Amino acid sequence: MNKDKLKTAYKALAAAVFAAVFAVLALSCGPADKPKSAGTIEFHFIDVGEADACLVMTDGHAMLVDGGNADDSSLIYSYLRDHSVTHLDYVICTHPHEDHVGGLSGALNLATVGRVFCPEPNEGIRAYASFVKTAEKRGAAVETLAAGDTLYLGEAKIDVLAPLAVTGDLNNDSYVLLITYGGTRFLLAGDMEAEEEAALLDSGADLDCDVLKVAHHGSGGSTSAEFLEKASPEYAVISVGLYNDHGHPSERCLERLKAAGAKILRTDVSGHIVISSDGERLTVTTGRGGTMTGGDPDYILNAWSKVFHRPDCESVGKMSERNRIEFYGTREEAIEQGYKPCGICRP
Ligand SMILES: [Zn+2]
Ligand SMILES: [Zn+2]
Repeated sequence: MNKDKLKTAYKALAAAVFAAVFAVLALSCGPADKPKSAGTIEFHFIDVGEADACLVMTDGHAMLVDGGNADDSSLIYSYLRDHSVTHLDYVICTHPHEDHVGGLSGALNLATVGRVFCPEPNEGIRAYASFVKTAEKRGAAVETLAAGDTLYLGEAKIDVLAPLAVTGDLNNDSYVLLITYGGTRFLLAGDMEAEEEAALLDSGADLDCDVLKVAHHGSGGSTSAEFLEKASPEYAVISVGLYNDHGHPSERCLERLKAAGAKILRTDVSGHIVISSDGERLTVTTGRGGTMTGGDPDYILNAWSKVFHRPDCESVGKMSERNRIEFYGTREEAIEQGYKPCGICRP
């Protein structure tokens, strides 16, 4: 099977498992067309491969931060439809690179929208131009945000922490958003690189968070030890494509996240990742694994050899950081994802 086929197969499997999980949830929570719960916020890190898309839903309000690539448009459309999203209070594009702005038209084709935000590029970018057109068709003019701006999504507060200066470099002009819900904090870092991160650290902003959407698909340039010391996330979500051409996530970034004690969640491993909060407690559900509410991983996967191990297996220590994946789920789920049990630790 070639890489593209494998990726497609993975996506199909993830979609099927995820649909099944939500079907069960919908059955146990009542009619599917009703909002799932009151008094919670959910962050859906949609698996859009080497790209970003995060749907935030809270108490009847919804917003979308980034929408993946142009060819993710139909996935975004169906994902929102399957979650009964008919109106988005906000659509926020962290920056107009195609892997963030490309699929937003799918959302705008489905749902009505309150306000739309995106930094304005200083040169003509096709994906951005078509996004502006689609937004205008929906009756929304694209606005810009600046550090210090605040928005509210139901009970959730959205603070724009960065960019502190417009540099003209799209990644370093990414919106960095801190979303506070009760006592829980979610930091979405766009494609922030070293330059913007340094300015953010200099600003003295309170970066403390429970969940970090890791900047720039886990590249090595940002997410420094200094940044992580301030942010100290319990969970670090990396939105990244299987076998991407950029070597994301970088080994350096993974090592720093591990050293900071963050539990790493990756869309290339787990498919869609949903983290919900009741204002105090976090619950994580992944498209390809079980539910976790903290604690140690159940197994360690080796992405290269496709073997899974008990966390205390001797071969886990010898594994390269890049191939080492913490897995929260059952033995059957690991096997279902194409992993074979290790012959030494016999998980
Ligand atoms: Zn990106
Ligand atoms: Zn970018």
